[in-house]
Amino acid sequence: MSAESVIGVDLGGTKILAGIVARDGTTGRTIEVPTPDDGDAILSEIDRVIDELCAEQVRAIGIGVPMPVDALTGIAFAAANLPLGEVDIPGRLRARFGLPVGIENDANAAALAEWRLGAGVGTRDLVVFTLGTGVGGGLVVGGRLFRGWAELGHIVIEPDGPPCQGSCHGHGHLEALASGIAADRAARELWGDTADARDLVRRAYDGDGQAVSALERIGRYLGLAAGSLVNIFTPEKIVVGGGFGAAAGEILLRAMRAAATGEAMAGAADELAIVPAAFGEEAGLVGAALVGFEALDGER
Ligand SMILES: [Zn+2]
Repeated sequence: MSAESVIGVDLGGTKILAGIVARDGTTGRTIEVPTPDDGDAILSEIDRVIDELCAEQVRAIGIGVPMPVDALTGIAFAAANLPLGEVDIPGRLRARFGLPVGIENDANAAALAEWRLGAGVGTRDLVVFTLGTGVGGGLVVGGRLFRGWAELGHIVIEPDGPPCQGSCHGHGHLEALASGIAADRAARELWGDTADARDLVRRAYDGDGQAVSALERIGRYLGLAAGSLVNIFTPEKIVVGGGFGAAAGEILLRAMRAAATGEAMAGAADELAIVPAAFGEEAGLVGAALVGFEALDGER
């Protein structure tokens, strides 16, 4: 590992992935632990994994959280899918470890990784969708990561559609229609209670017509959201990542492209490419580390 490394922490709904990361995005030692189901226990578990990694020489800490983050104060607001309320995580970590600490929403962090080191390198305007259990998103606008909420999963696609989960009280949002959870639901409707998103994807690639249609419907919803975003941000690229996004692959992307270009205004999508993410499971970890490097560079 190079002399200059930071600790990246990707706090997810089901697991915490932390690791030593160099400036070029290469990862050294990593630790993965299940996310505890209680807010205080989550914060102590984050402390514990950082303690363990701090045995190595690190210069800063960066953390990605599945919560909206105030870009000025670093305060994170109540999570939709975690038992964590408003909390000052950087303040806690700075006091405990005495290192520069950066924080960002996890999907924004993943977008930062794709933009700086992955499928979005060289773009000025970029949209990144992270399709996992939910739908995350991030935007690069005019050569800068957009530091607002960028909750692309909570764009309204279908009035009176299925409800969102957790603390989002909306209906017919992208997350309820185009996430891993939505794919689970589509699979259950087709083949009964034991089926899930994995079956849907596998059967679609085996050529099952119903599975292909269901996956294409999810791709179409994503494309509707993408087309609306294209009309606002005219990105050069849209990158699709996350566990479900990677698994759903080209069948999903093809339907997404068709719907996106169908909704885009004349000229807005001429140069648009919709491509798979370069980073897999580590996008959030590497992005969190890049946020750590930003905190480090900001202090010099
Ligand atoms: Zn929502």
